[in-house]
Amino acid sequence: MRLLSLAIRDFRNIASADLAPSPRATILIGENGQGKTNLLEAVYLLATLKPLRAGRLAELVRFGEAKAVVSGDFAGAGGSRTIAVEVDSTGRRATVDGKAQDRLDSYFEGLAAVCFSPDDLSLVKQGPEGRRRFLDRAAFNRWPAVLGEAREYLRALRSRNAALRGAVPEVEASFREPLVRAGARLLLRRRELLRELTPRVAAAFAEISGPGAPAVSLAYRGAGGLELSAGDEAELGARLGEILERRLARDLERGYTSAGPHMDDLVLGLNDRGARLYASQGQQRAIVLALKVAEIENLRHALGRPPLLLLDDVSSELDPQKNRYLLEYLATLPAQAFLTATDRRLLEPAAGPEATFYKVEAGR
Ligand code: ATP
Ligand code: MG
Repeated sequence: MRLLSLAIRDFRNIASADLAPSPRATILIGENGQGKTNLLEAVYLLATLKPLRAGRLAELVRFGEAKAVVSGDFAGAGGSRTIAVEVDSTGRRATVDGKAQDRLDSYFEGLAAVCFSPDDLSLVKQGPEGRRRFLDRAAFNRWPAVLGEAREYLRALRSRNAALRGAVPEVEASFREPLVRAGARLLLRRRELLRELTPRVAAAFAEISGPGAPAVSLAYRGAGGLELSAGDEAELGARLGEILERRLARDLERGYTSAGPHMDDLVLGLNDRGARLYASQGQQRAIVLALKVAEIENLRHALGRPPLLLLDDVSSELDPQKNRYLLEYLATLPAQAFLTATDRRLLEPAAGPEATFYKVEAGR
């Protein structure tokens, strides 16, 4: 899948923009607050239907306007198609060649996008939410069906939480089963993803850190002691069900489901110690960089081509050695990428002969 053209209307501070992205690097240069991240966010929304930054979708609409629209022509093995996403106060709507989509399979066909922004650099240091988000988005890139599966889980979770708040144990029981079923499916996805990613993270980390570097490890920590390492979907579901049973009194008291994929964590380690407390700042950043490279490598092998890459201001945040590693790695990839920086010089090494430069100023 290659993005041939991109049109943005009333998206954050961008009133109207039409771009012809490079088949390789499209480089956006501009001062602070001009709209570089907004443009990347528009591309990310188009490719994933998810917001890049936390917050509500409606915030994407340009102040004073009713709706934002992002559309793009993608060329792939099966020909080219136009996909578009429209956002307003009621939510978002996706179309393929002008037709509304109920099921999003044909929308996501062949699409995958990985974004790397300065916020990601604190992935190791911060709470589990960011790491769950990494897992979920990586799983969704890898298997688009995860979108529907995650939605089903969230629906089941909300229903069970409502039942818990109603504090009627008999009612809760009928909501537990769908939650356990949807939860087991997500757990299985995460396990498969980690199986694929772990050796790639280790390899990338070793390469970034050079000889004598400590070994990096990824361990899934299931809330309530949930063991992810073995068993099929039914067994995982049975284990999750037992934990929920055991915690029922507590969950009823709090009105909240305290175990399941929405509470789990991905524990990153260095030489078998928790990297969150033990690793240096530079090592933590090297782990994040390794996670991103591993995800890209994994998609590249699984899908037969690299995902669309979005790098927001990363070069100014990484030290020169890690930045060099990243840009050299990117140069080896036959990937389409959007990169931003305030200083053009930072991205010269990533440019290549096919690069297109845009200057971003006041949303134009
Ligand atoms: P930096 O180099 O500092 O990261 P940037 O070029 O990435 O800057 P953006 O994050 O893209 O800047 O933001 C540009 C501007 O968009 C901000 O000044 C912000 O106030 C404005 N903005 C954000 N949301 C909206 C919106 N819904 N409508 C209009 N403007 C908005
Ligand atoms: Mg920015």
